[in-house]
Amino acid sequence: MNQSRADIPRGTALMTSLRASWIDGRTVDGGGSAMAHRNPANDADLGDTETADVRIVDLAVSSARRCFEHSWGLLSPYDRKKLLLVYANLIDEHAEELTLLEMLEVGRPGTDAAGLNASAGDILRSYALKIDTVNGDMFRSEERRMGVVLRRARGVVGAIVPWNVPVMNVLLRVAPALAAGNTIVVKASELCPRTTLLLARLAMEAGLPDGAFNVVIGEGPVAGARLAEHPDLNLVAFTGSSVTGHAVARAAASTSFKPVLLECGGKSPQVVLDDAFDDERIWPLLFFSAFWNTGQWCVAKTRLLIPRGREQQAIDGLIAAARDWQVGDPADASTRLGPIASRAQLARVQGYYTAASATGELVDLDCPRGITDSSGYYVSPSIVTGLPRGSVLQTEEVFGPLMTVELFDDLDDAIALANDTAFGLSASVWTARSDHGYKLARNIRAGGVSIFSSVDAARSTGPELGTARYFEPQKESGLGVDGGEHGYLAYTTPQSLYFHN
Ligand code: NAD
Repeated sequence: MNQSRADIPRGTALMTSLRASWIDGRTVDGGGSAMAHRNPANDADLGDTETADVRIVDLAVSSARRCFEHSWGLLSPYDRKKLLLVYANLIDEHAEELTLLEMLEVGRPGTDAAGLNASAGDILRSYALKIDTVNGDMFRSEERRMGVVLRRARGVVGAIVPWNVPVMNVLLRVAPALAAGNTIVVKASELCPRTTLLLARLAMEAGLPDGAFNVVIGEGPVAGARLAEHPDLNLVAFTGSSVTGHAVARAAASTSFKPVLLECGGKSPQVVLDDAFDDERIWPLLFFSAFWNTGQWCVAKTRLLIPRGREQQAIDGLIAAARDWQVGDPADASTRLGPIASRAQLARVQGYYTAASATGELVDLDCPRGITDSSGYYVSPSIVTGLPRGSVLQTEEVFGPLMTVELFDDLDDAIALANDTAFGLSASVWTARSDHGYKLARNIRAGGVSIFSSVDAARSTGPELGTARYFEPQKESGLGVDGGEHGYLAYTTPQSLYFHN
């Protein structure tokens, strides 16, 4: 499956039907002002959507509450699972439309988006199947007494999501929330409301009751802020930048006690020890880890930490790897890296490029250029060397295709360098020495660390994203367990029952 330029009229037509918030199984007009959208590949007008004001957000929460109390929250686990599996199949069937929308709204390369979206339904399946296997506990069983802990749905979940991988970001919140028996209101990102709206419509088509999955679209400081503070929510699940994460946590705490899950930014290192330099097949993997999705992913490993003296080898290796990564029109099948998703993000990223050439040596990796429109929001994947330690380029999240090359003297220095950041989302370590790999991984403060003993080992393990793994982001990268059984349990609340006979 691959989307091409010929499909764009189909995507544009689909967009016109997705234009305002989706509440109680229907489009709700009225509310806030019009929000303009532009195609990042060519700056073309994608038409407006209608933003939600506070009243519309309140309507969405009321709808989710009604549905929780009278419908979705009363379904048997068996029926819930059945509907979620139908929903997963519908997502598979509509993967092409979802891909088209991602391409148009945020410039995800069609080939790459199609590959990922072909397995988007699996996120739902994975959580739907936990309905059968994740249970409560029995904590006492005696002749006259028995104690059990139920895992109950929390109620209404408010999710606030970013734009970088639109379908995934939404499903990673919606799937555990619905599977655990909650209803949800998603505040879509300003950049990709249509992808989110289509996901909600498919839920209704699958037979989920009206109000189980609502979407409000609009500005973060208006619609997002109202959702975060809403007193009738039972959980806030936020994915986005760390700065906004703090604002969301403050707003959530301001009106009622409700837990907050925060999946925020990162500035992740990949530490390559001397022995890993023997295999030159490492460079495409290091390139991928930093530059996939044009560097716009939370776990992008945009800090390359290498032993002093290996700089030139790293520059040559990355330039060679870049030859396979065409930058260009997302609708071109050979494009592997698309544009930056918005004009505002482009300006931000360009600011870091300027800082990089002022404080270090900026090296353009010279990726091949496919067809690009001069009005598109393109930047050239690059690395920066020779930075003074502690430079903002090493510590701040760029969220674009710019990687720092940083040098260490020994293992302890590598650990200190890797931890010299406010973030703690992920890291990778490349070495065949398991004692060194383990020492680094244990001492790097990050929610997830991959230790690769060889290129062959790295290739055979498949993608890092997956719903089986679970972790908790550290430091400014967030709060709360994400993924797996523990991530599912985060959407439930334990209730103890004591039976005395
Ligand atoms: P962002 O923080 O600007 O926006 C995220 C969401 O928050 C958007 O829907 C936005 O409208 C909303 N928002 C903005 N201000 C708000 C406010 N005052 N109150 C409530 N909501 C508000 O982030 P972004 O630019 O959309 O996404 C990029 C960021 O997301 C990066 O930092 C990236 O690392 C992070 N991210 C993290 C993960 C993860 O799993 N850790 C995954 C994807 C993206």
